[in-house]
Amino acid sequence: MKKSNCKVCKEPLIGRIDKKFCSDACRCSFFNKLNVKERNEFRRINRILKQNRKILKRLMDSGRVRASLEELEIMGFAFGFATEVVVANEGPIKYFCYDIGLKTEADAAHFALVHKQQMPQS
Ligand SMILES: [Zn+2]
Repeated sequence: MKKSNCKVCKEPLIGRIDKKFCSDACRCSFFNKLNVKERNEFRRINRILKQNRKILKRLMDSGRVRASLEELEIMGFAFGFATEVVVANEGPIKYFCYDIGLKTEADAAHFALVHKQQMPQS
């Protein structure tokens, strides 16, 4: 029979074969660390989304109505991070970062800068 050790403090485990922690303290510590990891991941993604919105906002505030793929990349826009993707039948795709977003243009090298339609309050 294989002896196992606590996943946190590595103390040998006594008792039930499926035990993973030696104590409640180690169990709590393990799950707190997991939560920290998760929280950090949420923070990282939220930071990227906010940064994306900031880039779009900066362009819009300067009167721009479209932007090139290259320009967005240079500005640090992280494609692949959006709060919502709207796909119309055969139409353009809209990628939103909160209330503002990008709408694909036919040439695939440019995007229109768009505001989200106000959603009815639910
Ligand atoms: Zn332990």
